[in-house]
Amino acid sequence: MYPIASHWLNYIDGQWSDSSQRLTVNNPGTAEPVATIAQATVADAERALLAARRCADSGLLTRARPAQRVTWLLRIAEEIRAVADEGAWVLCQENGKRLSDARDEFIEAARYFEYYAGMADKIEGTSIPLGNGYMDFTLYDPMGVSAQIVPWNFPVSICARSLAPALAAGNAVVIKSPELSPLGMCVLIRAIANAGLPDGAVNLICGRGREVGSYLVSHRAVDQIVFTGSVPTGQSILRDAAQHAIPSVMELGGKSAAIAFADADREQLLASVQSGIFFNAGQVCSAMSRLLVQREIYEDVVEAVVAMAEGLSVGLGQDNADLTPVVSAGQLTGIEALCRRAIEEGAVAVTGGEAFADRAGHFMRPTVFRDVTADMCIAQEEVFGPVLAIMPFDTEEQAIAIANGTEFGLVAGVFTQDISRAMRCTRRLKSGQVFVNEWYAGGIETPFGGVGLSGFGREKGQEALYSYVRTKNVAIRIAGE
Ligand code: NAD
Repeated sequence: MYPIASHWLNYIDGQWSDSSQRLTVNNPGTAEPVATIAQATVADAERALLAARRCADSGLLTRARPAQRVTWLLRIAEEIRAVADEGAWVLCQENGKRLSDARDEFIEAARYFEYYAGMADKIEGTSIPLGNGYMDFTLYDPMGVSAQIVPWNFPVSICARSLAPALAAGNAVVIKSPELSPLGMCVLIRAIANAGLPDGAVNLICGRGREVGSYLVSHRAVDQIVFTGSVPTGQSILRDAAQHAIPSVMELGGKSAAIAFADADREQLLASVQSGIFFNAGQVCSAMSRLLVQREIYEDVVEAVVAMAEGLSVGLGQDNADLTPVVSAGQLTGIEALCRRAIEEGAVAVTGGEAFADRAGHFMRPTVFRDVTADMCIAQEEVFGPVLAIMPFDTEEQAIAIANGTEFGLVAGVFTQDISRAMRCTRRLKSGQVFVNEWYAGGIETPFGGVGLSGFGREKGQEALYSYVRTKNVAIRIAGE
């Protein structure tokens, strides 16, 4: 347990900065306030953008040898590891997530900086043969100012996911933290501020999305937008960004399906279902929100999943309960409303379907719907809560059609012992990532992103670094050849 400061600030141009307005951050497990944070205004956003612009234009991030950026990023990773316990406590209190998962977020954040430190001095162009009389090569320039908008479900690791490659490539960054869970990110940025980067390289503001977020993404000083959040917000940002044709990475929502064939290893499958839909109270963009089960094992799997869901411990994040609260009263209301609609449409809630009425915090019962059909809202809309829709299928063909039958395409999963079937399905699944026999296999090293309404561009892995640079081609005429 760590004492939590009662008031938190924004970080602009190398200084911690207060504001006349405040946002209150509440503990989702108790619905009690944790602290307040300075609510950034449009004027704060302007200062942050100008600081980032100055830093980017000064060349301070790129003038030295790339080895300087390697040193900065490794130092940042060290500083983050040093605050992981304290930061985890803060994140667990404001967000409701398990303390161990909150700590994992800080360690993952450190890993992003180590990983992209390894790439910061290897951003190499290519030489293109044009025959005698010419020389041609490519350079990778940083974009300049990267505006990064972060959601509340994994604020620390998602912040690091975009910030680390942006800095590795030599960009200056303005980050907007989410209103519901901004404090852990302040601990992260405090650690980063110790690493000796030039002022203005990293700026953090916490403001209302529609006011400050929208101001950021329509500003001329911005050279790139990285957005992680919901589909409607992503669409609104794309409209704003269109004014200055600002290139964007969009990491949006999902309605991801796991396909369980009759020969699936039952233990592997159940462990994956538990983490797939109940980890972080189901508030994961790549949650396993649909489970497609082959008819021969359907009844057995439904029974086992319901028993597992009913056996979960429910409680506070600080006690590392299996199922923790959802982030806010509004989030809980939305989840319950979608469950009610599903029941009206004929889906059967074998367990759950509503909130715990007797708890002070925002606790949703672990919920399992069976006999869901592809046209029901619970099969089509993102819930972002601990709610699983189970659907039967007979053939591989049918399973693929159901899995691909939404507007989303973030991740998908196949559970089978038949490698050829796994590979056939993998090729046909419409998603940015496919898990075979373990949900959430993969890591910071593996490219991640969506198709369809799940977005575009890739984060994580080597590929993500190239979202943070622009290619410049240099074509030279050589006299005398
Ligand atoms: P959200 O879209 O409500 O908010 C995300 C961020 O956008 C917040 O910081 C918010 O303040 C800001 N924002 C809101 N309106 C804005 C506007 N008009 N202009 C600019 N910024 C604005 O999403 P959320 O509720 O915080 O997060 C949940 C959603 O995020 C889910 O749909 C989930 O699937 C998605 N998500 C996706 C990924 C991914 O990597 N694909 C990861 C995590 C979450």
